Amino acid sequence: MRSNLVAGNWKMCGDSASIGKLVAEMKASLPAEPGVDIAVFPPSVYLAQVLVGLSGSPVAVGNQNVCDQPSDGAYTGEVSASMLADVGCRYVIVGHSERRAMCGETSEQVAQKAKQALLQGLIPLVCVGETEAQRDEGATLEVISAQLKPIFSTLSAEQLRLIVVAYEPVWAIGTGKTASPDQAQEVHAFIRALFSKKDELLAKGLRILYGGSVKAANAGELFAQADIDGGLVGGASLDAQEFSAICRAA
Ligand code: PEP
Repeated sequence: MRSNLVAGNWKMCGDSASIGKLVAEMKASLPAEPGVDIAVFPPSVYLAQVLVGLSGSPVAVGNQNVCDQPSDGAYTGEVSASMLADVGCRYVIVGHSERRAMCGETSEQVAQKAKQALLQGLIPLVCVGETEAQRDEGATLEVISAQLKPIFSTLSAEQLRLIVVAYEPVWAIGTGKTASPDQAQEVHAFIRALFSKKDELLAKGLRILYGGSVKAANAGELFAQADIDGGLVGGASLDAQEFSAICRAA
C-alpha cells in the first residue's frame, strides 16, 4: 500500500563536473524499474543540470528548501514553490535540522513551506528530529509532537495525505551514529499514531523515512521495520554505487 522512497540530500556539495559524473553514474547503476521511488536533492544552482541529466530515468528531483511565501516578490535569495514546479521538481525538503539550527527556521515556518509546496503540486518531505540532549532528557516524543503540531494545524486533511515525513535524529546526521532499528521504529510508530488520531487511513498511507547516517550496510535492517518506508540519505547519496545499494535495500 505504501511505496518506499529513498531520497538523496546532496546538501551544499559538488560542482558542475562532479555532479555531472554523479548523475551519469547513478543512471548507469540504477535499474530502469527500481521498484522503489527515488529522488535526489542537488544544490539549487545545479537543479537544471540534474533535471536534464536525469530526464528519462526513474529518479525524481527536488530542492532542499522552499520559500514560505506564495509568489513573486521582494524575497531576495529565496526560491518559490511555483518556480521549483515550473522547472520540473517533484519534491522539496522542508525543516531539515541544519536549516532549523543554522537559519532559525521554526516549525510554524516549516508548515508554511510545506503548504506552499503542496499548493504548487510539490511533495514536501517534512523533517523532524530530536537533538542528543533532548533524547538524553527523555524528551524525544515530546519534541517530535511539537514539531508536527503546526503541520496538523496548517495543512488540510487532503494536503496531509500528500506529505512525506522524515524522522532524522539530529545526533545521527552526518555523525556515523545511526539510530538502532528499534530506536527508529519506536519514533516512526509514534509519528504514525499521531497521524492516526486525525484519520486511520491517512496514517496507514503516510510514508515515514528514516534519516541519519544511512548507508548500504545498515539500510536493510532499518527499512525492514514495520513503520520505516525508506530513507533520507545525506553523505552516502554522493556515492552512486552506495546510493543504488541503499535503493536496492528498500
Ligand atoms: C541528511 O542530510 O538528511 C542526512 C541524513 O545526512 P547523513 O545521511 O549524512 O547523516
